Amino acid sequence: MPVFAPQHVDVSLSEGVSIRWADGHLSQYKIKYLRDHCPCATCTDAHGTGETPTATRPAGPLPVLQPSGHRLQKVEPVGRYALQFYFDDRHSSGIFTWTYLRELCPCDACRPAERDRAKERRKS
Ligand SMILES: [Zn+2]
Ligand SMILES: [Zn+2]
Repeated sequence: MPVFAPQHVDVSLSEGVSIRWADGHLSQYKIKYLRDHCPCATCTDAHGTGETPTATRPAGPLPVLQPSGHRLQKVEPVGRYALQFYFDDRHSSGIFTWTYLRELCPCDACRPAERDRAKERRKS
């Protein structure tokens, strides 16, 4: 099993995270994407039952500083194996290991491979 290690990590609290891996691959993640893929128990349960309801908020002037989970307050390393993201909706229980982040890489080179693997799983 390959062990993924980052060579360089760039964090923008309003934009997202980019990781240059030791094998030269570059992964760029939007904060919303990371929030949607939070691996904590709360979020993975919610993923199973569908989207979190958001329709209850009344329409009106845009609340500019409304916590949305689309910005980060901070990012902290967890040992040598993971990152912990503090989202601006006060959610911070997800520990993103390097391996998980690499599997999550949204780039064209990585995502089609994942879709193929999913197809293979369904066939068998
Ligand atoms: Zn979570
Ligand atoms: Zn990739």
